[in-house]
Amino acid sequence: MGMVVQKYGGTSVADAERIKSAAERIVRAKAQGNKVIAVVSARGGLTDELVDLASQISASVPRREMDMLLSTGEQQSVALLAMAVDALGEKAISFAGAQIGIVTDSFHTKAKIKNIDPSRIIEALDADKIAIVAGFQGVDENFNLTTLGRGGSDTTAVALAAVLKADVCEIYTDVDGVFTADPRIVSDARKIERLSYDEMMELASLGARVMQARSIEFAKKYDVRIHVRSSFNDSEGTYIVREVPEMEGIVVSGAAVSKNEAKITLRGVEDKLGVAATILGGFAARNINVDMIIQSQSASGHTDMSLTVGMGELSDARALAEELIDEVGADGFEVDEDVAKLSVVGIGMRSHTGVAEKMFKALAAEGVNIQMISTSEIKISVVVDEALADRALAAVHAAFELEKEPAPK
Ligand code: ADP
Ligand code: ASP
Ligand code: MG
Repeated sequence: MGMVVQKYGGTSVADAERIKSAAERIVRAKAQGNKVIAVVSARGGLTDELVDLASQISASVPRREMDMLLSTGEQQSVALLAMAVDALGEKAISFAGAQIGIVTDSFHTKAKIKNIDPSRIIEALDADKIAIVAGFQGVDENFNLTTLGRGGSDTTAVALAAVLKADVCEIYTDVDGVFTADPRIVSDARKIERLSYDEMMELASLGARVMQARSIEFAKKYDVRIHVRSSFNDSEGTYIVREVPEMEGIVVSGAAVSKNEAKITLRGVEDKLGVAATILGGFAARNINVDMIIQSQSASGHTDMSLTVGMGELSDARALAEELIDEVGADGFEVDEDVAKLSVVGIGMRSHTGVAEKMFKALAAEGVNIQMISTSEIKISVVVDEALADRALAAVHAAFELEKEPAPK
């Protein structure tokens, strides 16, 4: 007997019809002889609505209360889906994260899973029931409800598949799989058949929101086979799996853009030993993730230092920059919210050269100026004007001919 974890994203449970159709798919998987665990997101748009509602109450709501609020979305979905399965004549039982011991740390709104106690799920499966679990949520050691960051239901699903040693973790979403770029931005983007964990991890953290990046960390660590596919049809989607040698033959497997970025520039920073450490130390102490860093040439003993942070951390970063001005003897700081990060990813970059050149040429031909650059073994990222980001993505996608099936090696 097989075991499958199926995760249904927001669009896939958006209304009663979609919930019924998810229930039918779940029942079908059970009828095929599988033990089935369904992980469910809040109905499409509901989490955004709750975030918006909270922002109308106050500009800085306590994060603990935010989690109390946001976790209600998934709780609605599991109850409704369990009702829909019941209506089809199968036994189902819904669980909130806390009820199945999804224990996290206490970083409200971006908590990390520390432990899962699968015993209640196993008990339910052994009683021939379908287990329906709320995604995105957990509980800390003091029984405070927590959430796992936007898109966190993916992580719940993969983590459960890991502890239960499921055969596959199916991610049902509103596109046919993982594409070479967001198909809503690049119309000729191509569905990828198979992708390595490392590539998916990079694409996800660089803006391809189809999977939460942290879920792929889990998948890689515990060897969880992921199948990203559409809840609107039965066609094969994208398998995210352990790397195999022939994957290196594909130089660039995908491109992504993230508009959720801001650039902070500290002007006229004293060019002396230890200053960069002080600045970066300040960001680390406040738990603000700094992505790209660039320092200008020193002129009369002073430099400019630019850093990028996520928009969600911008208000914390501004407050810190204010403090840093005196501490590092800077003239002042500027914030540019209208930037985007554009990246290309592929494990073949390890063994092929010329990728940066091709990318930069394509951007130049499109009239897109590059503000910052960063590279790693399997990716190249640039910061560009946000207004040009979609065009830039399409240009880079075309330059690497990502719309074409890669030639067999
Ligand atoms: P769900 O609610 O099912 O979790 P998400 O909205 O989180 O769905 O993720 C699916 C969306 O991710 C798609 O609708 C698509 O617009 C976007 N997306 C961004 N990059 C990619 C990509 N490379 N491949 C597929 N989808 C992508
Ligand atoms: N409902 C949450 C969100 O919208 C979690 C998820 O959908 O994965 O971010
Ligand atoms: Mg998602």
